[in-house]
Amino acid sequence: MDYQSIINEIYRDLMFEEDFGQIATYIPELAKVSPNKFGVHLYTHDGFNYSIGDAREKFSIQSISKVFSLSIALSLLGPALWKRVGVEPSGTAFNSIVQLEYERGIPRNPFINPGAIVVADLLVTYLKDTKKEFLEYIRALTGVDTIDYDKDVAKSEQRSGYKNSAHVNMLKSFGNIKNDVEEVLDFYYHQCSLSMTCEELGKAFHKFSDTNSVFSYNGIHLSQSQVKRINAIMLMCGFYDESGEFAFKVGLPGKSGVGGGIVAILPNKYTISVWSPRLNNKGNSYMGVRFLKQFTTRTNQSIF
Ligand code: GLU
Repeated sequence: MDYQSIINEIYRDLMFEEDFGQIATYIPELAKVSPNKFGVHLYTHDGFNYSIGDAREKFSIQSISKVFSLSIALSLLGPALWKRVGVEPSGTAFNSIVQLEYERGIPRNPFINPGAIVVADLLVTYLKDTKKEFLEYIRALTGVDTIDYDKDVAKSEQRSGYKNSAHVNMLKSFGNIKNDVEEVLDFYYHQCSLSMTCEELGKAFHKFSDTNSVFSYNGIHLSQSQVKRINAIMLMCGFYDESGEFAFKVGLPGKSGVGGGIVAILPNKYTISVWSPRLNNKGNSYMGVRFLKQFTTRTNQSIF
C-alpha cells in the first residue's frame, strides 16, 4: 500500500475545501494557536513512518492524555477500577454534568471529564510524585525525553475551569474523590497540558495498537486483554458525543482532544495522528475527522 501517496492526496484535497469549525477558546491559551496548522503522521507496525505538514510541531494534546492516565489506573487497580468509573458511551458533551447526579457520582466512562477526573484522583492516590511519574511514563512510551507539560496551558485552564470545578465537587460529594479537590484538578490540568507532536503520539499509541505483545513501560504493565479493553473504550467513547458517528464514518478506535489532535489505531497494523485545531460542533478536529474518514475509505482498511 502506497500510504504516502494516499496521505498526500487527501491532504491536498482537504486543503482546497473550505475549512469550517472553530478553534477552542474556552481555554484562553489554546486560542493563541494558528487555526491553519495541519499535520498528519502514520506509524506502521513494521516500523515505517509517513508524514505531511505540521506533523513535527508540538500542540496541546488535551483529552488524548486520558488514554495514558486510564492505562496507568488500569494497570494499578485492575478490575477494581470499574467500581469508580463505567465503560458506557455517554452520548453527552465531554464536559456535561447532567448524568453525574442521577448516576450517583459514577461517571459513564473514563474519557468524559468527570471520568478522567476520577482517574486523576486515583493516580494522585497511587503515584508518589504524580506529575513526575506521569511524565516519565509518557517519555518511556515515546522514547522522547523532552516531552513536557505546557505550564501556561495548565495555568490558563486552572483559571477558567469552572465546569471541572463543578465536576470534582459533585464527585467529592458522592465520595468518588479521595484526595483534595484542588490537588486532583492540578494534576488533571497538567496531564491535559502535555505538549506533543503527531509523530510522538504515533510512537506512544503504537504501544496500544499492539494487542499481541506484552505492554510494560516504566513499571506500568497491561495484559493483552487490558490493551484490548482500552481500544474498546476508545472506539465507544473516544470522540465525545460523536463517538458513534466516528465509528460509523472512520471505523477505528481513537481519541481526540480540544487542542485539535486525533490519534486512531488499526490494531496490529498502524497508528495515525492528525492535528488541525479547528473543531466541529462536537469538539473534534473538523479536518481531522474528515481526513481519517477519507483515509480508511481510500485504503479500505478499518477494524470492520
Ligand atoms: N482539559 C480539557 C477540559 O477539561 C480537556 C477537554 C478535551 O480535550 O476534551 O475541558
